[in-house]
Amino acid sequence: MTYSYDPRNIFARILRGEIPTKTVLDNEYALAFRDIAPKAPLHILVIPKGPYVNADHFATGASDAEIAGFAKAVAEVTRQSRVNPDGGKGYRLIANAGEHGLQEVPHYHVHVLAGRHLGPLLVD
Ligand code: 5GP
Repeated sequence: MTYSYDPRNIFARILRGEIPTKTVLDNEYALAFRDIAPKAPLHILVIPKGPYVNADHFATGASDAEIAGFAKAVAEVTRQSRVNPDGGKGYRLIANAGEHGLQEVPHYHVHVLAGRHLGPLLVD
């Protein structure tokens, strides 16, 4: 599968500095910022700096350094936010993809949700 990245998507615009965000972390590999419509007391989005559409595109198209840097950025966000289970109360990571995953923004991102008991994974 060849993914086509649309550089007009809203997270691409955020990466270019065209739209302000509440930044949590910014380094060579990732940007983390507060979700504009939080679904939990803590709701942070972590996105890679590179042009990847979803998790599949990222895993198959990104370099090992990009993948490692992104994973470490997610861990840094949970540690900084004090929700890491090693001392904190835990969190949930969600990465939506495609039609059934209801992905709205076509730039790969992980939702970090925390700050309350999050209930079952899916509610029918
Ligand atoms: P998806 O459904 O693609 O997994 O999630 C996209 C997320 O991006 C949603 O939770 C939505 O609230 C968030 N979002 C959409 N536009 C913006 C924006 O301009 N700024 C921020 N901070 N979050 C956004």
